[in-house]
Amino acid sequence: MVMADRNAYLAEMEVVCWRRRGSSVAAEHAAGSAVGSSPNQAGTAAGVSWEKLQREVASCTRCALHDSRRNTVFGSGSTDADWFFVGEAPGREEDRQGIPFVGRAGQLLSAMLFSLGLSHEEVYIANVLKCRPPDNRDPQGVEVNNCESFLHRQVAHIGPRIIVALGRFAAQALLQQDVAISQLRGKVHQYNIGQLPLVVTYHPAYLLRSPTAKAKSWQDLMLARSAIE
Ligand code: SF4
Repeated sequence: MVMADRNAYLAEMEVVCWRRRGSSVAAEHAAGSAVGSSPNQAGTAAGVSWEKLQREVASCTRCALHDSRRNTVFGSGSTDADWFFVGEAPGREEDRQGIPFVGRAGQLLSAMLFSLGLSHEEVYIANVLKCRPPDNRDPQGVEVNNCESFLHRQVAHIGPRIIVALGRFAAQALLQQDVAISQLRGKVHQYNIGQLPLVVTYHPAYLLRSPTAKAKSWQDLMLARSAIE
């Protein structure tokens, strides 16, 4: 990514240009790129189990959402990712394309990633629910209970170094805490599986509605970055 591109994304996030003390831009970007190179499951056995998981999700009928979905939305990105971003559930366009975070919220998530020196290909992005709730209503407890094991298996397979929960719903589901996002932000939590650090920030869709919260979201991303450095 060239400097001009990165500054454009930082501007989209409404943050001033950030650079590690004493590092060159090239070194900083190289460091960001290196974030995607963790030693974790690789090879045939892991590949087979990942494909099996994908097939299970694609044919899942565990909850009523399978009736109204056009596509399941498994997730996207690198299975070697160090950063695992978790959203709520597919929306209309995600359901249509079978890909998480497309549309305007996806563009803003791209800006958040690029401002960290990361690309979609270097991280993994998934939702708590793999099927779209009708009319974009909130997910229901029974749906989460039926679906969350898929997400846990994705995390266990990828073995990221950090999880970033995007929005109240993902945070509450991952942390099993029914408290406001304002109480969950600003600290490094622990995700039970693998004792992974987990940081909570706002959902990009919320940031589109409330752009003044972008500065707080940037603080969250810096907290996440410091947690794995
Ligand atoms: S939301 Fe999850 S549990 Fe429900 S049908 Fe889709 S994949 Fe299965």
